[in-house]
Amino acid sequence: MVRVRFAPSPTGYLHVGGARTALFNWLYARKLGGQFLLRIEDTDKARSSDDSTRAIFDGLIWLGLQWDEDVVFQGANVQRHARDAAALLESGAAYRCFCTAAELDGRRAEAEAKQETFRYDRRCDRLEAADVASRTAAGLPHTIRFRVPEGTTTWNDIVHGDISFPNKDLDDLVILRSDGTPIYNLAVVSDDIAMRITHVLRGEDHISNTPKQILLYRALGGALPRFAHFPNVLGTDGKKLSKRHGATAVGDYEHLGILPDAMCNFLALLGWSPGGDREVMSPAEMIEAFSEDGLLAKASVFDIKKLEWMNGQHLQRIPLEALAARVAVAIEAAGFSSVTDLNARPEWTALLVDLLRIRSRTVDDIVRQSQPYFGTSVAYDEQATAKQWKDAALSRTLLAGARAALATLEPWDATAVEPALRILAEAHGVGAGKLFQPLRVALTGVAESPGIFDVLLLLGRDRSIARIDAALSHPRLAP
Ligand code: GLU
Repeated sequence: MVRVRFAPSPTGYLHVGGARTALFNWLYARKLGGQFLLRIEDTDKARSSDDSTRAIFDGLIWLGLQWDEDVVFQGANVQRHARDAAALLESGAAYRCFCTAAELDGRRAEAEAKQETFRYDRRCDRLEAADVASRTAAGLPHTIRFRVPEGTTTWNDIVHGDISFPNKDLDDLVILRSDGTPIYNLAVVSDDIAMRITHVLRGEDHISNTPKQILLYRALGGALPRFAHFPNVLGTDGKKLSKRHGATAVGDYEHLGILPDAMCNFLALLGWSPGGDREVMSPAEMIEAFSEDGLLAKASVFDIKKLEWMNGQHLQRIPLEALAARVAVAIEAAGFSSVTDLNARPEWTALLVDLLRIRSRTVDDIVRQSQPYFGTSVAYDEQATAKQWKDAALSRTLLAGARAALATLEPWDATAVEPALRILAEAHGVGAGKLFQPLRVALTGVAESPGIFDVLLLLGRDRSIARIDAALSHPRLAP
């Protein structure tokens, strides 16, 4: 039974790299019918916050990465961590270290001055047993250090293949602080054993922790999981993605009008390929296509342009009703209309969203373009009026003609609107485009919109007539 976990530290928002790690764990579990667990690594109380924990939950829920079982809070397990450290002491795999932080700092500075790598010299491991016993009995503060055995530590990484570390390069690591709190590597291994984790899938920055953790697994008698380390996510400048590159919080993309399925699809392709040139996939399609073989070892680039393109693809693919519901909320937030009003005319709303999504990459694009279809007036775009109403006399004549034709047109639908406008253009000896473009600007204020007949239907007769009147009294069209 596959059991994987996402183990963020709640010290900020859910960032893009973390979300990708969560997604790969989720895909792995869903593909193999396993469990995807969530562990909040909150042992560092000073840096952890409830707000961050909430932001992580919200981000995962928004992305649709529902975890199985109850959330594990690492901080609740510190007694087990201490018990595991005591067991290692007992078995002789660890020893008490009485060196103080100040002493260690001094020795580190000395080594650095000689341009040497500082390594703990194991002096406390050489203390006589009686000495250790009396210092301990006297209550002298001490940490617990894990004694790194001789040899080489190797694992077969799912992403990178065999990775080896000579143990002599690993310092005897502190596993329990003098105040009895665990150090990261011990807490992680202790929890992963307790949670029966079978695969540890995480970012490449943890590669150097893995040999230490493998040694701890062995010393604690835990079954070794398999490991995968995903390569870094880079910005378009080739540097590791960070706040310098702009929005790195998943929540920011939600507010930019990115769809969760598009975000997941985009994140999945940062380090995974289903093969061929296949790119646009729903979560279900990704689960279907997911395999270890598709995981890539080379770093990938976070390109916001690609995310927007991806979002545009998903905007076309998601069921209209679901998209319309999202857009309605965003339209209300923009202050153009209310969800109640939009829900009261579902067909109109669906048509509006369907027509606008074709030329949109984000929900925000749709909202922006929806503005002309609400409110009593529109703002006339300078460039659009200058270009499309250039010949003021002709524009005036055509718009007045359109007004007259539309005012009495029956029925108000596509079958009647189209021939009426085409006849009008012909009567004035101009091509249809010569009428449609000035009319489009009159109706919407801008030069780009859905087809003119659709625009008229969306606006309705009264609003269309009012817009043409507004255009006719615009300074540029003044006689
Ligand atoms: N808490 C660690 C982090 O946020 C992850 C630990 C792990 O995945 O093993 O980087």
